[in-house]
Amino acid sequence: MISLPFLSHPVSTLLVATYVWAAGVIGWYLLRLPFELKARRTRVADARHRTLRDYTLLTISTLGLGIIPAVFAITGWPRGFTYALSASQLAAGTAVFIVALWLFWRTHRDLGRNWSVTLEIKDSHQLITSGVYRQVRHPMYSAFFLWALAQALLLPNLVAGLSGLVGFGILFAFRVGREEAMMRETFGAEYDAYVARTKRIIPGLY
Ligand code: SAH
Repeated sequence: MISLPFLSHPVSTLLVATYVWAAGVIGWYLLRLPFELKARRTRVADARHRTLRDYTLLTISTLGLGIIPAVFAITGWPRGFTYALSASQLAAGTAVFIVALWLFWRTHRDLGRNWSVTLEIKDSHQLITSGVYRQVRHPMYSAFFLWALAQALLLPNLVAGLSGLVGFGILFAFRVGREEAMMRETFGAEYDAYVARTKRIIPGLY
């Protein structure tokens, strides 16, 4: 149980954490919405990489970051894997989700009309290497990993908590090489030079 400044009686950390997680997911959806609407109006020049394989990866990621944690948040299932949530873990999860949403918004702002849910090249696609894209090549994937980490901290259930890291991890592992090959095919030496001076998701490390 924890006491919150605006409530007269203590509430369970699990209840608060579940609301923080849900607010984070809704916040993410609202941040993405205007970009999603804009992306739909931007013509696609090359959709050869928009495959069933890529949609399958998106489904796996949605299961891990959305469906499985939502089932736990609403029903408490799978019950056997739940543990007690400390106030410091709740605070850490909240902080990480805020950073994830901030980074997510920055990546959308920098990528603009070049963004897409699946792998594709837009009409007059531009290679973005500035803003957060100066630090790493896949900052939006960094933001999703931070979201998955926040989920692991906020949902005190080994299955529902870790499903985000597993689900998004699978998407990342099976997509990033193909995405980079697609970018190299489109931008050639310019992309090779960008790869040479940046890491994938953690500045200076990986
Ligand atoms: N992997 C990036 C972008 C994810 S969105 C990130 O994590 O930030 C996926 C789409 O973004 C791909 O279809 C590709 O066309 C586009 N894309 C990826 N990197 C890009 C870049 N540096 N500049 C422009 N478009 C890019």
